[in-house]
Amino acid sequence: MVVTVAALCQISRMVKNLKYAGVALDRASALRRDETWVAERLGDPATLVAPVWRGLNLFKSDSMPQAVFLNGTAAQTAIKEAGAVVLLGLDGNTAYAAADLSGLDEYALAPFTDTGGFEDLRRVGALMAGPEGALLAYARGMVHWHQKHMFCGVCGAPTTNRDGGLVRICDGRGDGGDDTHMHFPRTDPAVIMLVTHDNPEGNGPACLLGRQRRWVNGMYSTLAGFVEPGETLEEAVAREVLEESDIRVTDVQYMASQPWPFPSSLMLGFRARAETTKILIDARELEDARWFTADEMLGFGEWGDEPPGNNRMPRTDSIARWLMDGWLKEVRSG
Ligand SMILES: [Zn+2]
Repeated sequence: MVVTVAALCQISRMVKNLKYAGVALDRASALRRDETWVAERLGDPATLVAPVWRGLNLFKSDSMPQAVFLNGTAAQTAIKEAGAVVLLGLDGNTAYAAADLSGLDEYALAPFTDTGGFEDLRRVGALMAGPEGALLAYARGMVHWHQKHMFCGVCGAPTTNRDGGLVRICDGRGDGGDDTHMHFPRTDPAVIMLVTHDNPEGNGPACLLGRQRRWVNGMYSTLAGFVEPGETLEEAVAREVLEESDIRVTDVQYMASQPWPFPSSLMLGFRARAETTKILIDARELEDARWFTADEMLGFGEWGDEPPGNNRMPRTDSIARWLMDGWLKEVRSG
C-alpha cells in the first residue's frame, strides 16, 4: 500500500495535539524488507539522520530547541560509526534514519556537534514543534529497543538488525537448534486515568490526583500504572486506582494515547468515575492523594515554577496534563 501525504495528515489530526505523537513518516513496512533498497536509502547522502547518544538527542545550539538532522558526510559517518541504524521512514523522497552513537566517547562526537549538542528530549520536548518532537521520540525509542535486545531472549545468541531496524533476529545457535528467533520493537502499555466524582467532599465536582515522593515538590497528577498480562485496559484502570488510593471506579472511558519513550511506554489515557470517596493511599506507590476541585487546581503553579512550596500541575507535554486541562475546561464551561 502506498501511504499518501493526505493519509498521514489525517492520522496526524487524530493525535489531539499531544506531544511525541503524530510522526508524519511513511514507515515503508513493505519496502524495508528489501535489503538492497534499505542499503541504498541509508547510503544516499540526502538521507537525514537523527543521532542518539546515551539516551540523548541532538539539538541546535539556539535557545529554542530544534532538532539537528545530519546529512551528507556527517550522516554517512554517523551510520558507519553507529551501534545500530534504524530506517525510520520516508517523507516523500527523503528518508529519515536514527543512528545509535552511544558506543562513542564524548570527544568522538565532534563531527556531529558543529551546530548543536546532545540533550535530554524530556527536558526540552515541551518547547518543541509537535512533529519534530515526535520524530526524535521515535528515534530515541527505537535506539533504546536495539540496545536492550542485542541478545536473543529465547536462546541467548547475539541478534542482528533486519528490515531496516524493525526486526532483530538470531541464528538460533544459542540453544544448539536451527530455528531462528525474531524479535520486534516493543512498547509497554501503561494506563493513566483522571478519576472524577460529582461531590466527594461537599465542595462540588473534584478529581483524584496523587503524587510520588520522587516528583518535583508540590506536583500532583493523575494516577497511572502498567497493564499486566491477563487484564483488559479497563480492568487495569480499576485495579491501579484501587491499589493506589482504595477508590472504586466505574464508567472507564478511553480518551487518547501518547507514545512516551522514556524509555519505552505507550500511555493510554482514560477517564473514570469514582463510586467511593474515602482515600487510603498505598504508601509504597504514593506520598499523597487527594480530591481537588477545579478552583483548587486553577491555583496550582506550573511544573518548573518557584516558589517550591506551591502545588503545581504536571509537565505540559504529558497526557496527564492533557487529561487534567480537558476536565478543567469542561467544569469551567459548566
Ligand atoms: Zn534465539
